[in-house]
Amino acid sequence: MRQAQSYKCPLCDRAAQAVVLPGLDTRRVECPYCTTYEISERVVRFLSEKPEAKARARFVSDAVRRATKGVGPADIAEHCLKLRTERYFLESATREEALQQGD
Ligand SMILES: [Zn+2]
Repeated sequence: MRQAQSYKCPLCDRAAQAVVLPGLDTRRVECPYCTTYEISERVVRFLSEKPEAKARARFVSDAVRRATKGVGPADIAEHCLKLRTERYFLESATREEALQQGD
């Protein structure tokens, strides 16, 4: 049985729910602001240790919200962003930044 835990969203720091996914070293976070996404413990550590990465988290939050827009609860696990490596996180953030700048 998976257990939801009280958790702080690594992207926006709001109180969120997180479910540990067995065997993946990953949590599925349900945040009232960012919606639902999956994030590995490694990326959580990366965010906590790298202020530059944390500063880009709002762009990742935007990407997460777009990925789940209009997706029902039954399909959310399939569609939500899966932030499992620093590389994915950085590419996502960089793409968001480019969009915001109108490139
Ligand atoms: Zn959040």
